[in-house]
Amino acid sequence: MEKKITVLAGDGIGPEIVAEARRVLDRVAEVFGHRFDYTYVDIGGCAIDKYGVPITDGGMDACRRADSVLLGAVGGPKWDGCPPSVRPEKALLAVRKELGLFANLRPTKLFPQLAGSSPLRDEAAEGGIDLLIVRELTGGVYFGEKTTKTVGGELVATDVMSYSEHEIERIGRVAFETAMKRRRRLASVDKANVLETSRLWRRTMHRLAEEYPEVGYSDILVDNTAMQLIKNPSQFDVIVTENMFGDILSDEASMLTGSIGMMPSASLSSGTLGMYEPIHGSAPDIAGLDAANPLGTVLSAAMMLRYSFGMAAEADAVEAAVGSVLLDGYRTFDIMSDGCTRVSCSRMGSLVAERI
Ligand code: NAD
Repeated sequence: MEKKITVLAGDGIGPEIVAEARRVLDRVAEVFGHRFDYTYVDIGGCAIDKYGVPITDGGMDACRRADSVLLGAVGGPKWDGCPPSVRPEKALLAVRKELGLFANLRPTKLFPQLAGSSPLRDEAAEGGIDLLIVRELTGGVYFGEKTTKTVGGELVATDVMSYSEHEIERIGRVAFETAMKRRRRLASVDKANVLETSRLWRRTMHRLAEEYPEVGYSDILVDNTAMQLIKNPSQFDVIVTENMFGDILSDEASMLTGSIGMMPSASLSSGTLGMYEPIHGSAPDIAGLDAANPLGTVLSAAMMLRYSFGMAAEADAVEAAVGSVLLDGYRTFDIMSDGCTRVSCSRMGSLVAERI
């Protein structure tokens, strides 16, 4: 197969971690007989420095024309003082909106080799942690009408939370389809005891559940989910939820794996085009040191193979290679433990590539 990948390396450690993901993708292409063509586009602070905007129209075009987009991270102290309209993050929101990326997938997997890095007790981590949060990304309270008015002599602020049936159904289908490709269990998270949007959410999910009888479906309230993620995370396979709940729960879940450097993510549209990125930022404190953990980005590239290119065997090979490198005791500094071998960012990328 031939695929076009637009690469947004970004700022800080972005170029370092993306280079390692590319090394791994190149190896996949070699071993499995594919061809990946890369177009590099400046995004974030580096684009502001060169062009005065966080992404150019030409850059955005390259994202639209691609089969998928691989992102490192954007931002850093140098651009903190930029006006809101040209901040580095502005480019990310623009790309998400432009490409219609409404579904955010964040897998949380605790590699058994890294069990010592999880903050959970051994008993909680024992059942294994391998869950995936499907978060609605373009609706809900973050996008609703916002007002601040004076009422009765004091300021009153309002954020409107709204969901249409089609928005819920769209993300619901992604979640059910994703569950079908995994262990076929889906927990839908809401607050249906108080929120009207949640009641519509639940009704819509129940209707979809009838179309997917193979999927073991359950409803769970968001407050209980926050507790269960800590108490017994192994009960979960796929979790689907609205934008704000997903924002909070996915950060909570990410901590279960020990290091933010291990966590990949995918943002998907209704077609096959997606944007793939590690969940962490540009880590300016370690930029340029060849020290960052590239595995979150490498695992994001594996998600790209799986979800945008339909290359399941290739994705499995990348994930297995990561597991094998960890099993052999290689660690970047953030996941380092006694008796292991500390390696640099580039060495970690090479080790994974060699094992494919
Ligand atoms: P961060 O995620 O960049 O860093 C938090 C901590 O985690 C730091 O100590 C960092 O060294 C460490 N860390 C992050 N990634 C790592 C990796 N791969 N390997 C090892 N350690 C790693 O968050 P921050 O410091 O709050 O933000 C720094 C900049 O990144 C800010 O400008 C912020 O706006 C931006 N940011 C960008 C994105 C994005 O591009 N998607 C996301 C979050 C933050």
